[in-house]
Amino acid sequence: MNTKFIFITGGVVSSLGKGLGSAALGALLQARGYKVRLCKLDPYLNVDPGTMSPFQHGEVFVTDDGAETDLDLGHYERFTGNPACKSDNTTTGRIYTNVLQRERRGDYLGATVQVIPHVTNEIKDFIREKDGSADFVLCEIGGTVGDIESLPFIEALRQFGNEMGRERALFIHVTLLPYIPAAGELKTKPTQHSVKELMGMGIRPRILLCRADREIDKSDLQKIALFCNIEENKVIPALDASSIYEVPLTYHAVGLDTQVLDAFGIKDAPKPNLEEWERIMRRIKNPEGEVTIAIVGKYTNLNDSYKSLNEALCHGGIANKVKVNIKFIEATLFDESAEDIAEELHGVNGIIVPGGFGERGAEGKIKAAQYAREKKVPYFGICFGLQMAVLEAARHLASITDANSSEFGNEGSPLIGLMTEWTKDNVTEKRTDDTDLGGTMRLGAFPAHLKKGSKVAEMYKENKISERHRHRFEVNINYKDELEKVGFVMSGTSPDGTLPEICERNDHPWFIGVQYHPELKSKPFDPHPLFISFIEAAIAQGRLV
Ligand code: GLN
Repeated sequence: MNTKFIFITGGVVSSLGKGLGSAALGALLQARGYKVRLCKLDPYLNVDPGTMSPFQHGEVFVTDDGAETDLDLGHYERFTGNPACKSDNTTTGRIYTNVLQRERRGDYLGATVQVIPHVTNEIKDFIREKDGSADFVLCEIGGTVGDIESLPFIEALRQFGNEMGRERALFIHVTLLPYIPAAGELKTKPTQHSVKELMGMGIRPRILLCRADREIDKSDLQKIALFCNIEENKVIPALDASSIYEVPLTYHAVGLDTQVLDAFGIKDAPKPNLEEWERIMRRIKNPEGEVTIAIVGKYTNLNDSYKSLNEALCHGGIANKVKVNIKFIEATLFDESAEDIAEELHGVNGIIVPGGFGERGAEGKIKAAQYAREKKVPYFGICFGLQMAVLEAARHLASITDANSSEFGNEGSPLIGLMTEWTKDNVTEKRTDDTDLGGTMRLGAFPAHLKKGSKVAEMYKENKISERHRHRFEVNINYKDELEKVGFVMSGTSPDGTLPEICERNDHPWFIGVQYHPELKSKPFDPHPLFISFIEAAIAQGRLV
C-alpha cells in the first residue's frame, strides 16, 4: 500500500478545531472507500495526558490497548469508527523518554545525542511505522506553529515531507481569520504571518483551512492565495458548523476532500457516500422532543472535561430522536447540603455522576445518587459514579453507616477498595499504595460477563461484553450479599467473578452503575446501548413529570 501522509498544523491561535477538522477529513476520505488512520503528535513534556488535570487539558481518552491519550483521538474514533490505539498518539515527553532510554542502553554507540538527528529520527519513526497501514495517514500536530516546544516536530515533518515528496506528503495549515468589529471585516494578516512562519521552517502548506465566524469574501481568499503562494481553490473557508457532526458535510461542500485528492494528483477517486452523515444531521436538526440530563461532576467549568460523555448523550438522543440538554452541576458546592442539590436536580429527566477522582465533591455526588434513587429519576453512574452510588446504598439502606472508599483514606468500612491485583492478557498486574501515578491504573479494554435476565444483558443483547476501564479502586466483592439484600444487584462481573463491573437496582426504573467508561465507545452512527436505553428512560421520566 502506497500510504499518503497528510500533516495538519495550526496557526494564529489554539482551539481552532484542528482535531475535529482532521477527524472530518478522515471521515470524508473513508466515505470515498479509502482506508484511513489518524494520529496525533503532542508537543508537551508529559509522557502522556494521563496525569494531566481535566481542568487544563480536558478528558483523557482511553484506548482498548490501555493508553491514556489526547481527547482528539476520541474525535478520530467517533468520526471514523476505527478504534484508536496506543501508537496513534505520542508526546515530546514520550519521544525524549525513548531517546534517553536508548542513550542509557548505549544504542547510539558513543555519539553526541542531539535534537537533530536523534529526536527528529524518533519522531519520524513514529510516523514511518504507520506506512502501509492505510491509504491515508492523517497526522495532527498539537499546539500552534511557532511554539518553542513544537519545533522538533515541525523539523521532523519537514525532513519527512522532503523524503516522501509531494506525491506522498501534504501539509494542511488551519488558521483563523478574526473579525474586527470596528473595521467591519475579517483580517487575513495573521494567516499570512502564520504561513510565513511555517515557510521559514521549510514547510510549504499546499492547503489552507481558514476558520472564520462568518462568510469569507472571495477577494479575501484570493488575497491569501496570492500572498501565501497557494492555489486559489486550495484556500478553503471553514465556517463554524451547527453541530460537530455537520463538519464532514460542510467541509465536503467547500471542497476539502476534493482538493486533498487533487494535491496528491488522484484523478479517479470514487465519490463519497455521505448518507450516514446526512441521516445523522437530519436527526439532530429535527428532534421530536427534548430531555435534560444533569451531570453532577467536579470539572464542570470546562466542557472538554466530559467530551466523550457529552457526545455519547448526543448519540443517545440521535437514536431516540430527541435533543439532549445537559445541565452541569458542580458537586463540590453540595458536599454539605442535601436540600440545595435537590433544588438543582428538580425537574431533570436523568442524572449522571461521571468518572472522577478524590474526596472533594464525593458527598455531593452521593447526595445526587440518593436523590435519584428516592425520586426514581434515571441514574447512570460511571466509574466513580458507580462507586458513589454503592456508598449511598450501603450507608442508607444496608446500615453500614461508615461505608467509605479507600481512595479517601483508611477509615470506615472499605466498600470501595484499592485493587491490588488483576489480570490483563493473561498477565497478573500488581499495585500497591506507593506505585507511581502515571499509567498505573487498570487501563483499557477488559471483558465482563453479564447476569442472564439482568437489565443490562437486555440492553447489550449479549452476555459477554468488553469495555474500557480507567480506575484504581473497585467495589469490594465481599459486600456482595449485603448490597444485594437492599436491591443493589451485581449484574456484571469480571469473567472470574471477583471484580464487580456493573450494579443495577431492581426496584427502580433505571438505576445502573458501571465500573468502566461506556461513553468512550459510543459513535454517532453506532450509539452505545446503555446511552440509548438511558435516554429512552429519561424520555419516559419526562412524560411522568
Ligand atoms: N477514582 C476512582 C478510581 O480510581 C474512579 C475513577 C474514574 O471514575 N475513572 O477507581
